[in-house]
Amino acid sequence: MSKKRKQKQSALSQITKEYTMPTWTTTKPKPVVLGPSINERKLTPEDEQRATKYDNSRLMSMLYFALSLKRPHKGSGEQKLLEAIAQHIPRGFPKHYDEAGNLHVDARQTEANRTLFVSHVDTVHRDDGVNAIKQTPSVWYASGSQLGADDGAGTAMLMHLLYHKVPAYYIFTVGEECGGIGAKVVSDDQALLKQFDRAIAFDRRNNSSVITHQGYGRCCSDAFAEALSDKFNDAGLLYMPDDGGVYTDTAEFVDVIPECTNISIGYMAEHTDREALDILHFRHLADAVLSFDWDNLPTERDPSVDDFASGNNWWSGSMYGGAKHNYGYDTYSWLKEDYPTQATGTYPANDTSTTWTDDDDLYCALEEAANRHDTGYLWSLLSDHIETYYGVTLPLSATINFKRADLHRWQKQVGQQPTEDILDEIAEQLTII
Ligand SMILES: [Zn+2]
Repeated sequence: MSKKRKQKQSALSQITKEYTMPTWTTTKPKPVVLGPSINERKLTPEDEQRATKYDNSRLMSMLYFALSLKRPHKGSGEQKLLEAIAQHIPRGFPKHYDEAGNLHVDARQTEANRTLFVSHVDTVHRDDGVNAIKQTPSVWYASGSQLGADDGAGTAMLMHLLYHKVPAYYIFTVGEECGGIGAKVVSDDQALLKQFDRAIAFDRRNNSSVITHQGYGRCCSDAFAEALSDKFNDAGLLYMPDDGGVYTDTAEFVDVIPECTNISIGYMAEHTDREALDILHFRHLADAVLSFDWDNLPTERDPSVDDFASGNNWWSGSMYGGAKHNYGYDTYSWLKEDYPTQATGTYPANDTSTTWTDDDDLYCALEEAANRHDTGYLWSLLSDHIETYYGVTLPLSATINFKRADLHRWQKQVGQQPTEDILDEIAEQLTII
């Protein structure tokens, strides 16, 4: 063998060594005593089955690999993850880096494939390094640091779709946490974006949102969000349109792509060292995303029309697992009628913490979802407030004990922002388990 060839071979083997996926196994998760005090979920038989199914899978290996790296923008972790992704893309799909360093993969098969999937590979970490991942049967988190499931989980989900050759275009972006640096460069390429009817990110907290609004503007139609929720719910999940989105990469594409959304991937308390990933939800979602044809979703929104009709409100999304006042609660009767099992079964109403003024299965279901993952905007305001005025750090196990009548009253009083008085009132009603 020539000297040159030898050199090349040894360089290649080094790369392979560096980016070999660690084998991940669910068989014996270490018992965890300390850590984020998230309400542990009990595994259903389906959860157990999925745990076995995804044991040692490429999906879980990619997830573990991504989360084990801190990935600040422009750091080595961000780059390592991109290189690992590039290396593990199934053969035959064209791929390239654009000028911002985003990785593009074209897995479309026909012109009818008009779906774009996006995830960001960077995290809010300040420095590169190794993340020590802790696992319980239902939750993953990092010891003393952000887990980086925002959006390592979405990135692993895109790879899962790619491993299964779901025909679509995929972009792994850089610098989302620094203001969508990568996505902004993509948005300059109108010719590319015009090839898509929908842009999908899995970069939303909790487990029930299909985001219809980011910032103050609409990003996808209700028809699209409900159809997509339907697809997930047919697979046993409980999703619904949520107009409380803030920002992710797909927000950069709304002027060209009709339906842009962001879907709950199961992380909670992102950007804090209490960030955790609901691994049961993650695996369930992994099943669901392969169960239907993404190109069959309706396309209704006109991207040339700005729609600011609905804004962010402080009781947004996660408070109710997605349902909000300005849709009118009754809009969600379809959910209850169509998905009675999810509304009463997956989220059993064993509520000891909350008093509802009427007995409605759906509200109980939503309230359960909210209690288990209540880390939304109100939550962050509340925890800041409590830390400032009570000197206490709010554990994730805290649940808000309120009456629906109170919520309506607060809603009327505060308009767009909760006052300190109201935060105080809510704080007094906290139950900490
Ligand atoms: Zn994110």
